[in-house]
Amino acid sequence: MQGYIVHLNRVKDEDLIVHILTDNKIKSTYRFYGARHSVIYLGYKIDFEPHYNLKSSLPQLRNVLHLAHPWNSNRERMMLWQQFIGLFYSHLKELEGFEGFYTNLLDWCALRWEKQNPKRIAIEAYLSLLRHEGRLHDPSRCFLCDGIIEQNVALARGFLPAHPNCLHVKGLDQALLENLFLEQSTLHVNDLEIEYLWKILLEGL
Ligand SMILES: [Zn+2]
Repeated sequence: MQGYIVHLNRVKDEDLIVHILTDNKIKSTYRFYGARHSVIYLGYKIDFEPHYNLKSSLPQLRNVLHLAHPWNSNRERMMLWQQFIGLFYSHLKELEGFEGFYTNLLDWCALRWEKQNPKRIAIEAYLSLLRHEGRLHDPSRCFLCDGIIEQNVALARGFLPAHPNCLHVKGLDQALLENLFLEQSTLHVNDLEIEYLWKILLEGL
């Protein structure tokens, strides 16, 4: 079985509950502390075997193999990856039956994470997630007052569009967002705007 580690809880002294995003659900597993174990970190893609026994409600995490990406050793890229992938845990922990969408999306991101700006990749992936979930809103309609937005669009968590005055935050150019939402490409978005979008993304999927 394969998946991405999206959350780690330390329990007792050194034991861990490891939450792994697999193709169709987040699988929670238990790992006893042991010196022979390979080191695992949040964000790693791993191959593993869940080992069930009658004494415990959680399967043990066994035979872990890190399916490494070259950027796993790049501190800055890894930190951004961990921030991004951690969001999937809160978003998906109660759900099942995703049919591969989220792991495919993370595979797509992971392949690009080495060469491109990770924040751009994450934003493009997030737009694709919102569209997949039917939550990508028309950036010309304010979700707070239901009025038409003409020039500047402020975004709330979930990239919900609003008038800057309704949301009390600065906005981005409306035409830029129309294009971004439609194309799901950050090609025409500058670095300051990327920071704006990244911050909203970190509020939660
Ligand atoms: Zn409004």
